[in-house]
Amino acid sequence: MQCPFCDRRFTGTRAPVALSAHVRFGHKAHARKWSAKLDRFTTAEVPDAQAPEISGKPESHHETQALVRAAYEGIKARREAISAELLHMVALEAEAEALDIQLSKLSEALAVFDNAPAAAAAARHAA
Ligand SMILES: [Zn+2]
Repeated sequence: MQCPFCDRRFTGTRAPVALSAHVRFGHKAHARKWSAKLDRFTTAEVPDAQAPEISGKPESHHETQALVRAAYEGIKARREAISAELLHMVALEAEAEALDIQLSKLSEALAVFDNAPAAAAAARHAA
């Protein structure tokens, strides 16, 4: 899992958390924007997780605890995967914005070339 703002890579099950912390503390300017967008995404688009149904009759308190823990770990892992996906989306959005700026500048440059002959002809006509 790579940082969208630099070359650092994070691996392992804690990667989303480590990446999130790295972005917050290592890229404060980006993080502010990122965090606002992520809040929007997480509040708007991530549905409420349902409490897991535990079927069967656990034979002991221990077994119940293990089932609940397994459910917790499963949902937590999924939640972190979603955070990573959202972070990736925000990175793509940032890249798209940067590309839009480049496109706009290049488009202006192309317009200069396109308008040059017409402008020259108009100047000749006027003279
Ligand atoms: Zn970074």
